[in-house]
Amino acid sequence: MDTKMSTRKALIGGNWKCNGTIASVKSLVAEFNKAKGAMPSNAEVFIAPPAIHMGLVADNLCKDFALSIQNVWSGKKDFGAYTGEITPAMAKDFGVQWALVGHSERRHTVAHESDELLNQKVLATLAAGMKVILCVGETLEQRDGGKAKCVVLSQIKYGISGVKISDWSRIAIAYEPVWAIGTGRVATPEQAQEMHKAIREWISANVDSKVANSVRIMYGGSVKPANCKELWKMGDIDGFLVGGASLKPDFLTIVGCVKDGAGL
Ligand code: PEP
Repeated sequence: MDTKMSTRKALIGGNWKCNGTIASVKSLVAEFNKAKGAMPSNAEVFIAPPAIHMGLVADNLCKDFALSIQNVWSGKKDFGAYTGEITPAMAKDFGVQWALVGHSERRHTVAHESDELLNQKVLATLAAGMKVILCVGETLEQRDGGKAKCVVLSQIKYGISGVKISDWSRIAIAYEPVWAIGTGRVATPEQAQEMHKAIREWISANVDSKVANSVRIMYGGSVKPANCKELWKMGDIDGFLVGGASLKPDFLTIVGCVKDGAGL
C-alpha cells in the first residue's frame, strides 16, 4: 500500500449539483457553519452550489469554505450577449475563487461539452484570475475496453492545452470515473491511486516535473465517510470532489478524514 508523504495541501470540494431550495440551502449552510474555526490546517475546502443559490451561500456560509461555480461561460468577453450563461468575471465579482470545468455531467449527460469547449473554459477562467478544477474520467465501457488511461490522459492533454506553466498553481485535476459518480460504486483505493499516479507522471513528462509534484489531484465518485479514509491513505490522492455526500453533514466527516480520520 502507498503511504502518504505528500506536502500538497488537501483540496476537498462539495458539488451540490442541481439540488436545493432556499430553505434547504439555509439549513445546510447552518449545519456547515458549525465547522467554523475547525477546518484542518492541511486542507482547503470549497462548496459549489447551484449558481442561483450562490448569493445566498456567499452571504451566509462562513469564510472557512471557499466557493466554486459548477460551470462557466467560455467566451473572452466578461459581459455580453450570452443569454443564460455566467462568465468567470461575474463569478469572481461574487467572491467565487474556483470553477469546475468538465464535470462528467457536463461532458456526457447535460450538455455534451467537447474537449475543445472545455479548453476554452479553462483558459477563460484562468484569464479572469480564478482557479480551475478540470474534471476527467472514463466511462465503464471505456474502462472495460482497457482504454481508461488513454481517455483520461487525452482529456487532460486537450483540457490544458495553451495553459502557461505559471498558471498551473491555479489548476487542480479531479479524477472522477463516470461509473463511480452517483452510483454508490466507488473506485478501489488501488484503482484510484493507479490513475492518479498515471496523471502525475503524464504531467511530469508533458508539462513540468515541479508542476507534477505540486498539482492537486482529487478523487471523485461515491466518496462517503465509510470509504474516504482508505482513499486518503494513497500517496497521489490529494483530496476529494464530493457530490451526494456534500448535501449532508457527512461532508464534514469527509473533510475531517484528512486530519486524523475523526471528522470535524
Ligand atoms: C460529483 O458530483 O462530482 C460526484 C463525485 O458525485 P457523487 O459523490 O455523488 O458520486
